[in-house]
Amino acid sequence: MTTFQNFIAGAWSAPSTGEYFDNVNPADARDLVGRFPKSGRDDVERAVESAWRGFAVWSRTPAPARGDVLRRVGDLLSARKEEIASLMTREMGKPLQETRGDVQEGIDTAYYAATEGRRLFGHTVPSELRNKWAMTYRRPIGVCGLITPFNFPLAIPTWKAFPALLCGNAVILKPAEDVPLTATVLVEVLLEAGLPPEVIQLVHGMGETVGAALVEHPRVPVISFTGSTETGSIVGAECGRRHKRLSLEMGGKNAQIVLDDANLDLALEGVLWGAFGTTGQRCTATSRLIVQAGVHDRFVSMLESRAKALRLGDGRKAGTDVGPLIHAASREKVERYVEVGAEQGAELVTGGRRATGEGLEHGFFFEPTIFTGVTAGSRLEQEEIFGPVLSVVRVADADEAFRVNNGVRYGLSSSLYTQDLNIAFRAMQELDNGITYVNAPTIGAEAHLPFGGVKETGNGHREGGWEVYEFYSETKVCYVDY
Ligand code: NAP
Repeated sequence: MTTFQNFIAGAWSAPSTGEYFDNVNPADARDLVGRFPKSGRDDVERAVESAWRGFAVWSRTPAPARGDVLRRVGDLLSARKEEIASLMTREMGKPLQETRGDVQEGIDTAYYAATEGRRLFGHTVPSELRNKWAMTYRRPIGVCGLITPFNFPLAIPTWKAFPALLCGNAVILKPAEDVPLTATVLVEVLLEAGLPPEVIQLVHGMGETVGAALVEHPRVPVISFTGSTETGSIVGAECGRRHKRLSLEMGGKNAQIVLDDANLDLALEGVLWGAFGTTGQRCTATSRLIVQAGVHDRFVSMLESRAKALRLGDGRKAGTDVGPLIHAASREKVERYVEVGAEQGAELVTGGRRATGEGLEHGFFFEPTIFTGVTAGSRLEQEEIFGPVLSVVRVADADEAFRVNNGVRYGLSSSLYTQDLNIAFRAMQELDNGITYVNAPTIGAEAHLPFGGVKETGNGHREGGWEVYEFYSETKVCYVDY
């Protein structure tokens, strides 16, 4: 086991507190991945001072040259893809086929950001007056505090850090305490690619200390947060008080709708991986299945047999479909929701308990779980569980399906399986989510497309795509009289 450090002021350094926390493999809690700094407010203070020094250099580096650094980051991540995927699986639990995808998203984000270095366009606008030029350009903002969740240990930090850096900002990364190793490797790669050291700071530790210190710091004008709606609301209130630029990406309660005319085999693949991939711990996870009455019983029975056949285990072993939950508290939360389902009269079709068997004894495994007869408006149908629990709601027609889809406080992704083009186009307009998939599951994103949700999932900003470059830069207007 190794002891890891923060990266502050251009050097790997011990936390001011002298304290460390253990990071364990959720598939086998006896396997200690490493010890990481339990940093204090003094560490954040040092990081902020250093980041402003980094900003002074980096913000004056031409944007195409900043893009060149990110292109090298893409090359280095590609060269280390297999190694990073493997350590991510050990640290976080999702199987290799998924962690490879996580790294690939980081690679795509790097190459996309690299090209944006030559496209940070402003406008030249005709002035109302004679002998006057008017124009806009995109200007870096300063130091950005990036607070990230555990479920995409590489992809989400890159979604934030790469556009922030491309726009000329310095960044301070506070990764989720469950996945500090992947974040450490990301910082190593950025440095190896030639990023000036003080442009990036990595401060490990607890959200209530390090995250809160970043959010409250008067010299961190930008906060980008991804995590639960509960934590995001605390972050949002504090940033509002301090008038910070803030991007919030939060929880979801995403639904897959299956209509009577759907291709059921396709819909089955969609819901299986949407619900149980990453052990249900995706912001875009399918946690509700809304099925039209004509195919309900047949589809549920097809799904039941596939869900029962999923192989749980250490994600580094070939053949593993589903890994563990991230920690013991997550599994207890899932267990509480199974009780809620039973209390509210839903029928447990499969799962509902801790997974047992060889190789599973020391991990936080839970059986893929399906409830049918779930009522729209019930707790099971409304609340984000963030585990392998799927609630099935039976509906009469597409109108009811759309109403149920829209009847939650979240609005990240939705999916519709139908052969009817008219209904598909209606869904794209009427489903109240940031992303709608037609004949594809609720999960998946491409680096060059915007990503994010509506209602209590987000505050209107987007990650990925071109829109994120507006978040990490300011429009400055210049008038020149001649
Ligand atoms: P979380 O518990 O809310 O934590 C997210 C981050 O916030 C972590 O780095 C955490 O640090 C930090 N934090 C905790 N308390 C804080 C505070 N008072 N001030 C500032 N930062 C604080 O979320 P999670 O369990 O890691 O991730 C799961 C959640 O993220 C789910 O709700 C999921 O839907 C959501 N998510 C959303 C998206 C999206 O794009 N919409 C994507 C992925 C995940 P610690 O780790 O030290 O607690």
